[in-house]
Amino acid sequence: MAGVTPLPRLDPRAIRAVTFDFGDTLVPVSPVAFRAVVAAVAVDTCHRLALGDPGPFLVAWAEERDRQVREDVTEGREMDLGRRFARVIARRRGMPAPRAEDRWDDTEVDAAVDPAELTWALDAYRDRWVAGIPVPPGVAPVLAVIAATRRVGILSNWPHAPTIEAFVVRAGWRPYLAAVVVSADVGAIKPDASIFRAAEAALGMAGASPASFLHVGDDPRADVAGARRAGWRAAWLHARNPGSPLPGAGREPEPGDPPADVEIDALEEILDVLAEPPGGG
Ligand SMILES: [Mg+2]
Repeated sequence: MAGVTPLPRLDPRAIRAVTFDFGDTLVPVSPVAFRAVVAAVAVDTCHRLALGDPGPFLVAWAEERDRQVREDVTEGREMDLGRRFARVIARRRGMPAPRAEDRWDDTEVDAAVDPAELTWALDAYRDRWVAGIPVPPGVAPVLAVIAATRRVGILSNWPHAPTIEAFVVRAGWRPYLAAVVVSADVGAIKPDASIFRAAEAALGMAGASPASFLHVGDDPRADVAGARRAGWRAAWLHARNPGSPLPGAGREPEPGDPPADVEIDALEEILDVLAEPPGGG
């Protein structure tokens, strides 16, 4: 589409804070690695809680994930990973699942699962995720360069914030980040403007001009249209992870959505976009 719709010029001197999407922007998530992580979580959980064979656990996991996407994501809410674990564990203990179009009685679910078991399962998910998804080597230098002159954050749609935080620490990115904002904590998901407002506050810049924030992401709807409608500038990182298992991966811009201010093919290209430091009043 380049040449048809000229992109508005982005003035890098006006950008005082930069946020990055996590999945498939900072961290490509391969389908193979993702499946291996989920399988390892199933093995861990079934062993620890004596739930039998991991196969049926994985089937229930996929069905309950689909149910949460229908009930929550399409309504603009993040999925609750602890809730998913509780439902799957209850199923493996003999509780019949509602039909796909019906809802759980979560009071009954909670009676079948000890909160300490959920804590353990969520920790297992976090640890398997952090151990099983490689840290891309090129990211830390990019964050370091930007953090020298601007506030840097992560702004992620993810159902479990401690997993993102643990990954960030292991990757060595924490010193560069003024904020890690995760939908599971905020209650809203991108493209909802409220999560961009939450990021402004988390970066210590509540009340700053929205146009002084730049968000970088791979999902044209959640990242680009969401940021632009919140008044931010947006950089679209063209999908580089075919077959990604993450929601929104490979999505194309929709008619009527605001376009990105800039499009990049590799994360480090954002350094060229931001080559001039922030300046002026
Ligand atoms: Mg993404």
